[in-house]
Amino acid sequence: MANSKSLETDVVIMGGGGAGIAAAIEAMDAGAKVIVVEKMAAPGGAAITSGGGCLIVGSPLQEKAGIKDSPDLAFDDWMKWGGPAADAVWARYYIEHTLHDLYHWAEDNGVKWVDLKFQEGNSVLRWTRAADSGHGLMTALIAAFRSRGGEILVNTKVIGVIRDGDRVTGITAEGDDGARIAISAKTVVATTGGFNSNLDMVLEAKPELKSGRVLEGSGYGANGDGHKLLRELGSYFTHMDHIWFYVYSTPDYRDPAGRRGLPFRLVPGYIWVNQQGRRFHNESLTGGNSGGPALMAQEPRHAWAIADRPMLANMTVVDPYYHVGEKIDRNRVEELLENSPYIKKADTLEDLAGKIGVDRQTFLDTVARYNDAFAKGLEKEPEFGKPLGASKTFDTPPYYAIQMFPLARKNFGGVKTDIRCRVLDKHFEAIRGLYAAGEIAGMAGGHINGKAGLEGTMLGPSIFSGRVAGGWAAQEAGFGEGFFGKANRG
Ligand SMILES: Cc1cc2nc3c(=O)[nH]c(=O)nc-3n(C[C@H](O)[C@H](O)[C@H](O)COP(=O)(O)OP(=O)(O)OC[C@H]3O[C@@H](n4cnc5c(N)ncnc54)[C@H](O)[C@@H]3O)c2cc1C
Repeated sequence: MANSKSLETDVVIMGGGGAGIAAAIEAMDAGAKVIVVEKMAAPGGAAITSGGGCLIVGSPLQEKAGIKDSPDLAFDDWMKWGGPAADAVWARYYIEHTLHDLYHWAEDNGVKWVDLKFQEGNSVLRWTRAADSGHGLMTALIAAFRSRGGEILVNTKVIGVIRDGDRVTGITAEGDDGARIAISAKTVVATTGGFNSNLDMVLEAKPELKSGRVLEGSGYGANGDGHKLLRELGSYFTHMDHIWFYVYSTPDYRDPAGRRGLPFRLVPGYIWVNQQGRRFHNESLTGGNSGGPALMAQEPRHAWAIADRPMLANMTVVDPYYHVGEKIDRNRVEELLENSPYIKKADTLEDLAGKIGVDRQTFLDTVARYNDAFAKGLEKEPEFGKPLGASKTFDTPPYYAIQMFPLARKNFGGVKTDIRCRVLDKHFEAIRGLYAAGEIAGMAGGHINGKAGLEGTMLGPSIFSGRVAGGWAAQEAGFGEGFFGKANRG
């Protein structure tokens, strides 16, 4: 029979990803005893596999590049992009704190910020990447937590939240050996991430998508466990149908359930054609607010990424199986190109059209029109305005067609919290002792992004709201003053 044991702490944290580790550091710095419970074999969550980019305003990297940014400008971009559905109070709170309470705080905890990248919807460059991307960022934060004596129970899944009268008093968990653990705590912080690796929950939130295929695509631990547990406590969930879908993803043929997707990148030369054999979008705009909706509008709801052999030379697949450490494993990319039934290959464009079942002449005309833009020396192809600088003529067989379906990547809705990250019930009253941060809380507060995100607005707010939750959870447990941080009002 499996053992059971009981532990006691001040603050218990459900999930050791971006928000959880930030919350844990903050609560420890306030003087609280903290236990992080993580169901996977190692902490890090989606955050450790992420691009490691955070939207940061007024950073030294922007200053060095001569970029003039301000909280006002960032807030305007944010609200224009995410619309009225964005939580303006949380958005403003996050933006004003990014310089001191994210950039410098992360640096103090061993993170190095290295460069800036353009992202759709931003009027200036402010997507700020950590060295070694999400892996570098999370490795540093996990090490910072452990160096303070912080404890992470891995391979341990939270299966219940304990409630005593009107307050939450701990959690129950199960080890991978079946052992039961009860942890009593003065406060509980839910940081279990999103639900985009649980197709059933995606389709429950967006039943209109049941008519076609969509793929699971967040971190492997993002199964919505915390959503279910918090719902049982009467927590209020909002904007659940705001899911960010990406376009450049093909089914993972190795997944026996056929649910998981593999995002692929660095194929700037490709064009996308629908089942009618026509292009439908400027393929250089790949974001969740451009490429995603363009793919969603196709009937049937999929497309083919067409490439010739040289265009695939730098292709990467965003999944741990296709990496050795941080480096791409080229052999495994080749294995995918050879073995996936969702990837077709042919020596001629005519044969490729036959293999993907599109009208031959329409398809050949589509490619010919695109090739013609090169023959004319144009900078952009005229049909959709794709810049041609990183592209080339289709002329080197074999030709490939990679079938793409919408991939559920990021949850923009979640459990509603107040500005201290206290979880609210349907009367908008705080459930005592319970906090939530990160993707379970729509990245922060319930819906910080609204209908679209400027990028860097998932990881950044998850880490920041983790700090906020950790600070106030410690304060309610009797440690520290809560979270105030240092605003940069520009
Ligand atoms: C490949 C990829 C790239 C991305 N790149 C970026 C980027 O560059 N910029 C950006 O802004 N956003 C990016 N995102 C989104 C961002 O990484 C997430 O929104 C962010 O990590 C959410 O943080 P979190 O702590 O809420 O969740 P996570 O980091 O996913 O952590 C949640 C943790 O909880 C654990 N957990 C879940 N259930 C339980 C349970 N029952 N018991 C115990 N533990 C549990 C999980 O295993 C996981 O470790 C990316 C996402 C992906 C998938």
